[in-house]
Amino acid sequence: MESITILGCTGSIGRQSIEVAEALGLGITAMTGGKNTELMERQARKVKPLFAAMSDEKSANDLRVRLSDTSIRVAGGEEAICEAAELSGSKTVITAISGAAGLRPTLSAIAAGKRIALANKETLVCAGFLVMDRIRETGVELIPVDSEHSAIFQSLRGGARSELKRILLTCSGGPFRQYSREELEEVTPAKALKHPNWSMGAKITVDSATLMNKGLEVIEAMHLFGVAPENIKVLVHPQSVVHSAVEFCDHAVIAQLGTPSMKLPIEFALTWPHRSLPVAPQLDLCQVGTLTFEEPDRNRFPCLKLAESLAEKKGSYAAVMNAANEEAVGLFLKEKLRFTKIYECCASAVDKIAGPAESLEELLMADHEARLYVREYYPMI
Ligand code: NAD
Ligand code: MG
Repeated sequence: MESITILGCTGSIGRQSIEVAEALGLGITAMTGGKNTELMERQARKVKPLFAAMSDEKSANDLRVRLSDTSIRVAGGEEAICEAAELSGSKTVITAISGAAGLRPTLSAIAAGKRIALANKETLVCAGFLVMDRIRETGVELIPVDSEHSAIFQSLRGGARSELKRILLTCSGGPFRQYSREELEEVTPAKALKHPNWSMGAKITVDSATLMNKGLEVIEAMHLFGVAPENIKVLVHPQSVVHSAVEFCDHAVIAQLGTPSMKLPIEFALTWPHRSLPVAPQLDLCQVGTLTFEEPDRNRFPCLKLAESLAEKKGSYAAVMNAANEEAVGLFLKEKLRFTKIYECCASAVDKIAGPAESLEELLMADHEARLYVREYYPMI
């Protein structure tokens, strides 16, 4: 039986990945979680991996006790998560950790020659130039799981890479698409966590509300497909049915459509270059009725503009923006920062901290400094 590894198996993408793997009859060699040992125990008993890793020693000790009647090996900490990513026996590693914490484990999986099913977009935002160099050096296959990038990847089958002119990256617009600036000032975590179309982890749900998610996705698309940001057009499409499209040199536009479900992109990353069972729900276009598209408002949602402006800058610019955003979103979720200050945190951190950086160590140092900066200057405003 073919086997995979899931990093971040207790999260939204991780849980759906387990369901897709089951539907496809795939085994799971290793799995990693954060601190939720109760869910991890249930998942591990069900899928019976060889190895289960948690983000820290304390959680690992708890899980070890919970699984003491099984033969599953348990460990904790970043090294253990990287070991899970490298473990032999699995062909594909699904990277579904949230945030820059996914970077090192993804690099470990690349070094071990695994096919990468990439959900963790922050890896490419933080260190895209370096990661893509490693991908080219190792010849490892990198298949996007992010729904827009999977749609682009699927649509690119409609023509040669040299014929590609533009990417049309769709965006739901989030829950505050029609909010005024004044209304945005009053946004609460409870409101931000109610996404109109998608059910996802908390961090990406807030990113979808600020449109930082789309900004991160522009950077992700630039690295994955080698297309300059000015040729990646963001389109607000509130129905989330057209998952994205590509425009070729003859102006043919090829899109991928589907229900708003991550199961299809997860499945396609596992079965590519083939298609397999219908795991995701079927799309009923008559029921959808109308598809609309509009320009995003970069004045009300400046995070998108900030990310677009940094995408091509080599150095720690995108890494600092990403780390500041992670910290700012964390503060916002604890009601210690206003929604509209998330942008200010990111822009200010880039201004103060970002600069030249090439190595992994330099990028991680910039990430660390950006987090300290936000924690020091931004709480309670
Ligand atoms: P989530 O918060 O639901 O799950 C995150 C997972 O990572 C959990 O298993 C958590 O325990 C683990 N984790 C978090 N911090 C960790 C750390 N420091 N060390 C080890 N493990 C850690 O997030 P999600 O919504 O599933 O998103 C995961 C990734 O996929 C993100 O990068 C997100 O941008 C991307 N993504 C998600 C969706 C979606 O529909 N949820 C869609 C597209 C892309
Ligand atoms: Mg997406």
